[in-house]
Amino acid sequence: MSATTPSEPRKRVILLGSTGSIGTSALKVARDIPGRMEIVGLAAARSTEALAAQALEFGVKHVALTDPTALPALQRALPADVRIFPGESGLTDLIHAVQADMVLIAIVGTAGLRPALAAIAAGCHLAIASKEILVMAGEIVMTAARRQGVSVLPVDSEHNAIFQCLEGRSPEEVSRLILTASGGPFRTWPNAEIASATLAQALKHPTWEMGRKITIDSATLFNKGLEMIEARWLFDVPMERVDVIVHPQSIIHSMVEFIDGSVLAQLSHSDMCFPIQYAVTWPQRVKNSLRPLDFAALRHLDFEAPRRADFPAIDLAVRAGTLGGTLPAVYNAANEIAVAAFIEGRLTFPGIWQTVARTMDAHQTGQGADLDAILAADIWARGEAARLVSQS
Ligand code: NDP
Repeated sequence: MSATTPSEPRKRVILLGSTGSIGTSALKVARDIPGRMEIVGLAAARSTEALAAQALEFGVKHVALTDPTALPALQRALPADVRIFPGESGLTDLIHAVQADMVLIAIVGTAGLRPALAAIAAGCHLAIASKEILVMAGEIVMTAARRQGVSVLPVDSEHNAIFQCLEGRSPEEVSRLILTASGGPFRTWPNAEIASATLAQALKHPTWEMGRKITIDSATLFNKGLEMIEARWLFDVPMERVDVIVHPQSIIHSMVEFIDGSVLAQLSHSDMCFPIQYAVTWPQRVKNSLRPLDFAALRHLDFEAPRRADFPAIDLAVRAGTLGGTLPAVYNAANEIAVAAFIEGRLTFPGIWQTVARTMDAHQTGQGADLDAILAADIWARGEAARLVSQS
């Protein structure tokens, strides 16, 4: 079932990270509301078969592939009239070559930052799934977007929920943003057992199906920490007014508390198609084939305070987001290195936050960092975290 509002034009969307978890959900949305969303560019790192199949299905004539070793396979799989933009610069080349209304960024890691700035410069609205962009360079991205008059629409379910709750409200009316967290697979585990958690256990997320990196981040609560910093910049609120509550059912995606004591929440099933669609069709709501909630079947929604002492990622995020400068980039980069080491069996589960904490301790941050300083801090933190991992 799909429905369209004929008066609204279709949005022409470039999708970066199309072969991943968010990317494939975004393509589901495009199939569901074809009258409102047209895919005009696709990009991946190395999944040539999936990327070629997507380009053929959606009739896309411009694709980017960042891994040069995978290029020949993609060239063989696509007809000659499909233009391929290779390498990391291919992501920005794609944005410059295609006339689009929106660039949806769903790449893991920091590779989405330059394309995000290129999209803003080209006058495209941004839909951002990749948290790293706003965590590392939130101030720079939001300032550039305001200057260009383009919107930054959050795809992450928590920020999308807050975005929906905030609509039409002024910042002075807001007292707190409340991010909900599922609590991850170790929510009820005793601290001693968390210390010996395995990769397979960390990958068993109770409510969401996602890529590996973000699933580990949900188990450590680094995902929530990254989201707190992201929210600080997206909604321009100080860190002390960004709060977290554990809500194991992941039905409430986040909430806003206003100065009069009222709280607005956004609810839906745990399916990324909801926030992706809203980012694409905003400011309108469009009928789709997604299943609405059945409250009688849900029966109850639970809440509990996060165990900050057992999951230090939250307090580390508060420190990084409050100090600002290059520290959020260090928090993010050290975590990426530590998670990769955990996945490869070179680090214990608590070793992830220990590595991030030590890397942050060793970093000297300055306020108001520019893009070069942020990227330099990112590189430094990767080196420092890798050194700490090798010593652990
Ligand atoms: P996946 O690992 O499932 O997918 C990553 C995608 O990015 C793939 O298409 C991959 O291509 C591509 N990619 C990776 N590196 C590069 C690069 N250097 N250049 C171009 N493309 C690249 O990740 P997710 O979809 O889970 O997550 C994407 C982002 O969205 C992350 O930042 C995550 O934190 C965020 N997010 C994810 C949510 C989820 O539900 N999954 C929820 C909210 C936010 P290839 O297949 O070729 O490797």
